[in-house]
Amino acid sequence: MTHLNPKALPNERGYYGPFGGAYIPEMLYPNVEELKTNYIPILESEKFQKDFHKLLKDYVGRPTPLYLAGNLSEMVGAKIYLKREDLCHTGAHKLNNVVGQALMAKHLGKKRIIAETGAGQHGVASATVCALLRLPCTVFMGSKDMARQKPNVMRMRMLGAEVIPVESGSKSLKDATNEAIRYWINNPSETHYIIGSTIGPHPYPDLVARLQSVISDEIAEQLQRQEGIDAPTHVVACAGGGSNAAGAFFRFIGNGKTILVGAEAAGEGVDSGLTAATIAKGTPGIIHGCKTLLMQTLDGQVEEAHSISAGLDYPGIGPMHAWLAKENLAQFVPVTDKEAMEGVKTLTRAEGIIPALETAHAITALFKINLKKEDIVVVNLSGRGDKDLDTYQEYFKNEEAQLNAV
Ligand SMILES: *Cc1c(COP(=O)(O)O)cnc(C)c1O
Repeated sequence: MTHLNPKALPNERGYYGPFGGAYIPEMLYPNVEELKTNYIPILESEKFQKDFHKLLKDYVGRPTPLYLAGNLSEMVGAKIYLKREDLCHTGAHKLNNVVGQALMAKHLGKKRIIAETGAGQHGVASATVCALLRLPCTVFMGSKDMARQKPNVMRMRMLGAEVIPVESGSKSLKDATNEAIRYWINNPSETHYIIGSTIGPHPYPDLVARLQSVISDEIAEQLQRQEGIDAPTHVVACAGGGSNAAGAFFRFIGNGKTILVGAEAAGEGVDSGLTAATIAKGTPGIIHGCKTLLMQTLDGQVEEAHSISAGLDYPGIGPMHAWLAKENLAQFVPVTDKEAMEGVKTLTRAEGIIPALETAHAITALFKINLKKEDIVVVNLSGRGDKDLDTYQEYFKNEEAQLNAV
């Protein structure tokens, strides 16, 4: 049974302080209401817990190791543990959430899964679990993103998912989301919509945080065994929508002894106009069905985010994180594209682990916070770098060329 930290939960209307809630078109109300009424009883049922934890163990590959990174510890000057979510099936933490939501869909009697995807990682995770659970899966994806992310489109189709190109608007994530919502409104009774992060209308942020909280449950158990303590001094995680950070923070939120650190993507720099550092630059507003911090113009138009990393390239952040920042329960560190690339090199050479570009933001953040030799720090290693090899090759090639020109 999952450990529930009451300090990590929203109120019954889905609010974390001033953030959260469900701001949805009237037509969507019955779908969201059905989920809201049923998600806690299902999550807490013995059958769900048994099925979920069995799949996490045998299919996803949990528990993931908590690895004491000796070389990195020496470089940072503190004891650094890596929570190896990169070793999950499909290479990232995303599967924890998708396995849980697909099981929930079955409990709700749903016959079909829909999802939206930007870079394709959430789409691939959804297609994977749908193959396993024999659920038909439709993924909405902007046609521009499809052209940019061909291998993931190929994976989804191999796995049996239908990938629907979205041609409206900017032909990317936001348009794919609109299309998925439109489909859901028209097919409410048989469809479950899997959202990929701690965003969206209540109950999604809470649902996703609870499903990902297995990460911090394992950290607590492993630290107890490996260090004889029940909480680290610091947890560091990158934050796009916020799901891997929510999972790694969950149990430790408000415990008075763990400093929670989110690494957000600063892109070209917090004040460059090309950034995804929502906590640093965002103001309260409504995006994708919830009230949170987002980057917007003075008249409320959502601004485009920029990050070299597709998974962090989002103009909002989950309401839980907006609240954690407001209450000083977590601190958020902006990390630029260039600094994240240094993080990639650092971890790769120090530990023989090539991280995802998103994850590299968390590695770099280690060098930007105050740490002492006695500190015991857990970094959530959200994903592996295979998907980013093209970006790495391109970037480091340019870097080499610049070095040679000097
Ligand atoms: C998708 C992704 C992220 C960002 O999503 P969160 O919901 O903020 O966790 C981070 N790391 C990896 C490896 C991802 O695939």
